[in-house]
Amino acid sequence: MSVNARPSIIQSVIPIADLRQAGSLPIPAHVPSTDATALRDQRGRQLRDLRISVTDRCNFRCTYCMPKEVFDNNYQYLPHAEVLSFEEITRVARIAVGQGVRKIRLTGGEPLMRRGIEELVAMLAAIPDIDLTLTTNGSALKAKAATLKAAGLNRLTVSLDSLDDKTFRAMNDVDFPVAKVLEAIDAANAAGFEQIKINMVVKRGVNDHQVVQMAKFFKPAHGMPGNIVRYIEFMDVGSTNGWKMDDVIPSQEVVNRIHAVLPCQPANPNHLGEVAKRWRYLDGAGEFGVISSVTEAFCGTCTRARLSTDGSLYTCLFAQRGYDLKTLLRSGADDVAIANAIVGIWQSRQDNYSEVRTAETARERKVEMSFIGG
Ligand code: SF4
Repeated sequence: MSVNARPSIIQSVIPIADLRQAGSLPIPAHVPSTDATALRDQRGRQLRDLRISVTDRCNFRCTYCMPKEVFDNNYQYLPHAEVLSFEEITRVARIAVGQGVRKIRLTGGEPLMRRGIEELVAMLAAIPDIDLTLTTNGSALKAKAATLKAAGLNRLTVSLDSLDDKTFRAMNDVDFPVAKVLEAIDAANAAGFEQIKINMVVKRGVNDHQVVQMAKFFKPAHGMPGNIVRYIEFMDVGSTNGWKMDDVIPSQEVVNRIHAVLPCQPANPNHLGEVAKRWRYLDGAGEFGVISSVTEAFCGTCTRARLSTDGSLYTCLFAQRGYDLKTLLRSGADDVAIANAIVGIWQSRQDNYSEVRTAETARERKVEMSFIGG
């Protein structure tokens, strides 16, 4: 099946503007508590991770995220006035850290397309006790790696769906070459970013033939830290990628394929709520991870909230609507009011989409990943 043989999904596409205009959820009242570390949702999960989409723009058209048929030349991006400013983003982040957030991930769209991103990194890096990370498609990373490091960015994740140029160009659908992403990863390692995560979304019949090649290519020499490939099951994010269960390669199959060539064993998680399951090579040189939202749901330990480009808080990647914080930010609300809103939102959270996913739910209208970050 050629990579471009995507079923026409135009009919199934819900005009995204409509979804944005679908209105926000009412912000639930919060239950006051003096102990921010006690903040838990309805399933006892803490708020630990805030993913921030700093732009809804991207220069790639990855078929599983921003298919060209939908995000075409007529696609209306958010007007600048609707996009949160660096000051607003930093304010929400600082307040969220006060409620328990310890990890902030900058996403998009493509975050490196946001002008002055290093400035935002420096503003966020000034917030104490956070792990500041960023996910990029690598297209602008070579030029920016050193300045991002100098601005205070701690860690990087680079998306790379194939080493085979023809497949990669087709998957990003803008003809961007693998070589440039590999150069960017080298530049980022040289700038001091270690153990860069390499995210590969695996789609059956499209790039799954590359699973073992990616493992071999990124497997470090003995004693070297190496970068870490994370194989991501193809997910029904948003409403535009034509997702079907048949296109999913279960993570266990990915592990089996790698183990057959590079024997490996499970490794303990680095921390509670870690998204990827770790596998260490038996020869002691390196590891990889699998992210199995479809076949091994991990909602039970999900500690993530997402701030959209236009300032809404989403409590699940597969949410349909979010909670509007921008109106609070721009209507003179003080930090306590914004903190109470975040607390109320989190305290009422029950999300567990991956545990209840069906072919029917997969067709439901959901916010686009490019709008809230992966
Ligand atoms: S489906 Fe939603 S609740 Fe479950 S792990 Fe993903 S983001 Fe968290």
